[in-house]
Amino acid sequence: MQVISDAKVGFFSEEKISVKINYMVCITSCAVVIISGAILLMWNKNKVSAMGDTNSVLDESSFARQRKRMVEEQIAYRGVKDKRVLEAMESVPRHVFIPEETRSYSYYDQPVPIGFGQTISQPYIVAFMTELLQAGSDDVVLEVGTGSGYQAAILARLVKRVYTIEIVNDLGKEAQNRLKTLGYDNVEVMIGDGYKGWPEHAPFDAIIVTAAAEHIPQPLIDQLKPGGRMVIPVGRVYAVQDLMLITKDASSKVIKESIIPVRFVPLLRK
Ligand code: SAH
Repeated sequence: MQVISDAKVGFFSEEKISVKINYMVCITSCAVVIISGAILLMWNKNKVSAMGDTNSVLDESSFARQRKRMVEEQIAYRGVKDKRVLEAMESVPRHVFIPEETRSYSYYDQPVPIGFGQTISQPYIVAFMTELLQAGSDDVVLEVGTGSGYQAAILARLVKRVYTIEIVNDLGKEAQNRLKTLGYDNVEVMIGDGYKGWPEHAPFDAIIVTAAAEHIPQPLIDQLKPGGRMVIPVGRVYAVQDLMLITKDASSKVIKESIIPVRFVPLLRK
């Protein structure tokens, strides 16, 4: 009896050990699945598509799809009609102008930080301001506030020549290299204070200012051609500003219209 009893005890002990092993294997497998899931989630967080499509990988074709949706859902949907502007917005790779850390936000409906406390404007605002300029293919345009170079690249597809001024040396140099690499050879970047314009290349058919000025800089009005148009946000720093359209008629009479409320980084002075 004793022996049988011992055998029984032995038998049950082995069974307990095997149940324990199964239990541990099961827990370990679950832990592996949970940890891998968490790692995958964190990995994919950096690869979230601009339109919220969490599984899409940010390769070029995904960016192109996001860009198409950006044009349809943010820009055309809100009333921008100019076909040339819509085409330019669809073809310029906005993500190339945005630093890696914030690149996944490239096609979001919002401004995105580009370093040095500056931002690349919301896609809709870029398109809206560009449409307001009504620039033709033979036009020479001045931009104040090069930033990433994105607005300059959009303009480069639409006009003959773009002169763009950036006050922050590093941003200007980076934008210059980027535009060169991308083949926009009708854009010239200057580091300096855009308040003063670029008299050597004036007068301009159109002027676009992408930082908010407290008043409209007189040198820019002077450098606008008769018949020309200037788009500029005007208002106090970090407040809501007015996006103004300034037109100079054939007799050089200047007309100022307030178009929509906007919020831009301030126009700095040197
Ligand atoms: N157009 C840019 C974004 C503009 S952000 C783009 O497409 O990315 C505004 C830019 O204006 C910033 O880069 C800022 O450094 C620049 N800026 C501010 N004051 C300026 C001035 N007086 N002259 C030239 N650039 C200026």
